[in-house]
Amino acid sequence: MDFSLTEPERELAELCRDFAQKEIATRAPAAWEEARCPTDLLREMGELGLLGMLVPEEWGGIGMSTVGFVAAMEQIGLADQSVAAAWQAHVTIGSLPLFLFGNDEQRDRWLRPLAEGRTLGAFGLTEPDAGSDARGIRTRAERRDDGWLINGRKTFISNAGTDMSFGVTLLARTGPADSQAPRYASFVVEKDTPGFTMGAKMRGIGWKGLDTRELYFDDVWVPDDHLVGDPDLGLGQFLRTLEVGRISIAALSLSLTQAVLDLAMDYARDRVQFGQPISKFQAVQFKLADIATELEAARWLTYRAASLRDAGQPFQKEAAMAKLKASRLAAWAASEAVQIHGGVGYMLESPVARFYCDAKVLEIGEGTNEIQHLVIARALGC
Ligand SMILES: Cc1cc2nc3c(=O)[nH]c(=O)nc-3n(C[C@H](O)[C@H](O)[C@H](O)COP(=O)(O)OP(=O)(O)OC[C@H]3O[C@@H](n4cnc5c(N)ncnc54)[C@H](O)[C@@H]3O)c2cc1C
Repeated sequence: MDFSLTEPERELAELCRDFAQKEIATRAPAAWEEARCPTDLLREMGELGLLGMLVPEEWGGIGMSTVGFVAAMEQIGLADQSVAAAWQAHVTIGSLPLFLFGNDEQRDRWLRPLAEGRTLGAFGLTEPDAGSDARGIRTRAERRDDGWLINGRKTFISNAGTDMSFGVTLLARTGPADSQAPRYASFVVEKDTPGFTMGAKMRGIGWKGLDTRELYFDDVWVPDDHLVGDPDLGLGQFLRTLEVGRISIAALSLSLTQAVLDLAMDYARDRVQFGQPISKFQAVQFKLADIATELEAARWLTYRAASLRDAGQPFQKEAAMAKLKASRLAAWAASEAVQIHGGVGYMLESPVARFYCDAKVLEIGEGTNEIQHLVIARALGC
């Protein structure tokens, strides 16, 4: 297996590294402190073509490979996890339902502005009573006057409430309410549609720059041309989209782990106790060696899942494995890196503390790690 980057992938990673170091690393911490989504940075990323990463040029994107996307994420996420989280949610779950399942008219109308970086995309699956159990959603769409009447509520929806947001692509139940075999369809609901409202930005432990909200749909009517893809297969469409999202969360986890490893290495070399740098103590060295080793293993899993997708081969199991391994590693590595920093690492003034706060959600979002275990176990034949 060879995961070395092609010339365009390498150039993209370099572009992302420069932008991340010059702009994101310097401006994003203030947005995290103020719990504000830095759409100024996302707009600038759009001007560089980064918001249309996985969308072909025909629809306004740059048609990058999944491997190239992972390499780009490794650079963006090193600088700030909230910006990287908003960006990856837009690139994968926020845009892909329209690219993969929309018709050409829908791609031109909604996907092109997303890919060109003029708008931000959101994916509305989770509800107060349905998270891991996606089949349990209650939001309903009923046929009405050459269109659909949508009623329900979504929660934890990222990127729907910013000044760049266009609306949301959501999943709703169709067919009779009491059906034993419910059907699902996905719809675009634009932000100014009557009856579509949202709550205030939610406050998380980390990812404070990410805009995440509850969305409310009260007799929201959309015409037929807002139905995306097959009217009965919306659930499958959403689950397929999440498979790409898992590679993305794995890549985000790699970037967080690399960031905390770098910070812990620098601190361990500088901090002197008992007359020598703490990096000379074997207990500290073993923590750093373990993080570096696990990171290499997680990196291979993630690039493997990405390269399978690029080759048009099944990648569901590998994406789940990469997400499980890399997110678990990120949460553990962030904790160990704080430990190496001692009290300094506990204080929010230190970058490692911010990464520690950002790490936990990686084990929850886009399918909890328990759900990744289920996906892998099913693929094994359990
Ligand atoms: C910051 C943030 C951003 C998000 N952004 C979005 C977004 O943009 N769009 C969107 O649709 N959603 C989004 N989500 C929602 C996220 O995908 C869900 O939180 C996640 O899927 C888990 O669902 P839940 O929170 O309802 O937990 P639950 O499903 O209620 O799970 C609770 C616990 O039970 C466990 N559990 C559940 N079922 C099983 C089982 N069968 N076997 C073993 N254990 C099980 C879970 O693993 C978990 O530990 C976001 C969440 C967060 C925190």
